Amino acid sequence: MSDLLAKSLIRDVPDFPKPGILFKDITPVLHSPAAMAEVTRLLADDAREHHADLIIGIESRGFIFGLPVAMELGLPFAPVRKHGKLPYERIAEEYALEYGTNIVEMHIDAVDPGQRAYIVDDLLATGGTAAAAARLVERQNGKVCGFGFVVELCFLNGRKAIEDYPVCALIGY
Ligand code: AMP
Repeated sequence: MSDLLAKSLIRDVPDFPKPGILFKDITPVLHSPAAMAEVTRLLADDAREHHADLIIGIESRGFIFGLPVAMELGLPFAPVRKHGKLPYERIAEEYALEYGTNIVEMHIDAVDPGQRAYIVDDLLATGGTAAAAARLVERQNGKVCGFGFVVELCFLNGRKAIEDYPVCALIGY
């Protein structure tokens, strides 16, 4: 989809947060109510098509895009957070980064058994974070019914890491 308002607003920031990374800055999208309405509607349509009954957002920009989707659909929302941020009992999943590892966590009561979770994040890069979030849902006996991203960096082939699931990305680079 090349004619999205949101696409015209995403800003490239070279060498952030470190040299060689071209960072996709989505903050101008947040600044535009029309672009947010567009993105929310498209992700909500996809989540509805996959019969989601829970929306999961991945810290932190997945919260910004995921919560409006949950509210639009009248569905519960649950956060996947970085290590050490969630206050209650939690489960954790580790995944590999280019250098080292990262950990994401979820509260033990975030997903009901059999619940169909639709996982939202701002951007799909290598897919490591998304795959770890899917494992957290499945360890709670939930089903991942799909993923929704605003942006996909197609050249990183992140879909491979989540190839067992439907993936919707609104804007590809
Ligand atoms: P990954 O696990 O490699 O798919 O990385 C996905 C996470 O990293 C998302 O939560 C993104 O917000 C962030 N991310 C990775 N690469 C970029 C980038 N080039 N621009 C903006 N965010 C990025």
